[in-house]
Amino acid sequence: MPLDFPLRCQCGHVRGVARDVAPSAGFRFVCYCEDCQAFARFLRRPDVLDTAGGTDIFQMAAGRATLTAGTDALRCLRFSSKVLRWYADCCRTPIANTAAGPRFPVVALIHSFMNHGADSLPRDKMLGAPLCRIYERSALGPLPPNAPAPPSLGLFALRASRVLGWWLRGLARPSPFFDVRANAPLSPPRVLTPNERAALE
Ligand SMILES: [Zn+2]
Ligand SMILES: [Zn+2]
Repeated sequence: MPLDFPLRCQCGHVRGVARDVAPSAGFRFVCYCEDCQAFARFLRRPDVLDTAGGTDIFQMAAGRATLTAGTDALRCLRFSSKVLRWYADCCRTPIANTAAGPRFPVVALIHSFMNHGADSLPRDKMLGAPLCRIYERSALGPLPPNAPAPPSLGLFALRASRVLGWWLRGLARPSPFFDVRANAPLSPPRVLTPNERAALE
């Protein structure tokens, strides 16, 4: 049954809600790419990575996620032209990855921002277990024993059909990270200098 999932940075300043969350209403995976690792290092939050440098991410329809407080502390980084990496400046909690513009119907919420209290269902129950791992060639060491399998072709098709479904059903908008009127990110993306980026390797 779909449930509302509270969103919250570590200190509680930035808050929100993800609505109608269910395993079938999202796509959970673990990403071992270098940019996700660099993001955690930039924030000095190695604790958000698993033992091999993986990030647990839940992609869902952008229009089903809302920020309700603390958007003044939202910041975003850009390592590549395609992805914006959002975090809470108050406590350096990684929040989400989005496309560079508001049209793509997906927000990729990072587990550190998905606050499931002690009284709620376990994360695996609410989101389903991670469906796959990606970019494992960039992993920092042996993958944890519970790491999900690499993606199959069927999984790519499943994700594509879910994303298309969100778009068709009008769940793409509004993205909580963009100003609808200005059609711009709520916080201007910061692009690291090559030296700053290299220091995160
Ligand atoms: Zn905070
Ligand atoms: Zn990644």
